[in-house]
Amino acid sequence: MIKFLDLQKVTRLHEAEISEAMQRVVDSGRYLQGEENRLFEKEYAAFLGQQYCVGCANGLDAITLIYKAYIQMGMMKPGDEVIVPANTFIASILGITRCGLTPILVEPRQDTLEIDDSLIRQHITPRTRSLLLVHLYGRCAYTEAIADICEQNNLLLVEDNAQAHGCKDRQGRRTGSLGHAAAHSFYPGKNLGALGDAGAVTTNDSQLADTVRALGNYGSASKYVFKYQGVNSRLDEVQAAMLRVKLRYLDADNERRCSIARRYMEGITSTAVTLPQAMPEGMNVFHLFPIMHEDRDGLQAFLADNGVETLIHYPIAPHRQECYQQMNLMSLPVTEYIHAHELSLPISPVMTDEEADTVIQLINKY
Ligand SMILES: *Cc1c(COP(=O)(O)O)cnc(C)c1O
Repeated sequence: MIKFLDLQKVTRLHEAEISEAMQRVVDSGRYLQGEENRLFEKEYAAFLGQQYCVGCANGLDAITLIYKAYIQMGMMKPGDEVIVPANTFIASILGITRCGLTPILVEPRQDTLEIDDSLIRQHITPRTRSLLLVHLYGRCAYTEAIADICEQNNLLLVEDNAQAHGCKDRQGRRTGSLGHAAAHSFYPGKNLGALGDAGAVTTNDSQLADTVRALGNYGSASKYVFKYQGVNSRLDEVQAAMLRVKLRYLDADNERRCSIARRYMEGITSTAVTLPQAMPEGMNVFHLFPIMHEDRDGLQAFLADNGVETLIHYPIAPHRQECYQQMNLMSLPVTEYIHAHELSLPISPVMTDEEADTVIQLINKY
């Protein structure tokens, strides 16, 4: 059986250090907002080359806290429009609508699967205030054109970096440091994953960092003084200690993912398969390895019958979901094509070359 992602093995990879970190937290007597939190924020900010990192409870909260902060700071107001790729995980859109903002869905490119930068301008209106750029599947979605569009139209560039920890742009800058602010999720299955829910906001804007921190702590910047009607969204010490260990191995773990990806790229020769478009080194950290296949469901069943677990990211596009009925009639053919044909092959830092070869042989045989 080849699992899609063997999280038990992923954790065992650094088991001794993780156990030591857990024990340190148990012994410390401090379980929230302590030393581990402070150090993780410092280390993750340094890793990204950003001045500020604020831990929070999860990735959806990170997106929400950024936009709530911009509203508190008077830089945005409810009803403003935020451009977002139509092909994304639902949380990107939920983070926008939770703040009373309006998501404007833009189609991805069929080759990159990321937002099509040539379609953004036509969606900008006088109410557009921000672009939420999602580095989906672990691939850098940032382009020079996107930077130009944001600058020319005064758009706040916010990155959803939930799937691309450690990824770089063409100039070698990390995703999560390319815009005005970035949201990170450390859900266990992400490239940088915790032992439960965790997230963070990074930015170079000190006012934004302070506002996000206060909003995530009941709206308080000093004890028992409440400036905003905030929420409780904090990163706990156990998760921060775990993430400090995992962060040290992130680049090496991503390199291992890339070597599995290279093996797939070279080995899968079936003409029925569309492989991910190649990217320069470092610009794809392969959170997922998405292929397209005309008979996706048949291939998935065949792989399952032969002991290979795969997933679909995602089976139903956000605009087709019941929770967004107002969008159900939109026609987004590229997004719909992806959702009907995408299949994610197993990939992780603990997958072996032999396992990858088994997957390759089965796909070529199908
Ligand atoms: C996982 C994910 C999120 C949400 O992160 P959580 O920590 O699960 O809340 C947001 N956006 C994208 C693209 C994701 O993959």
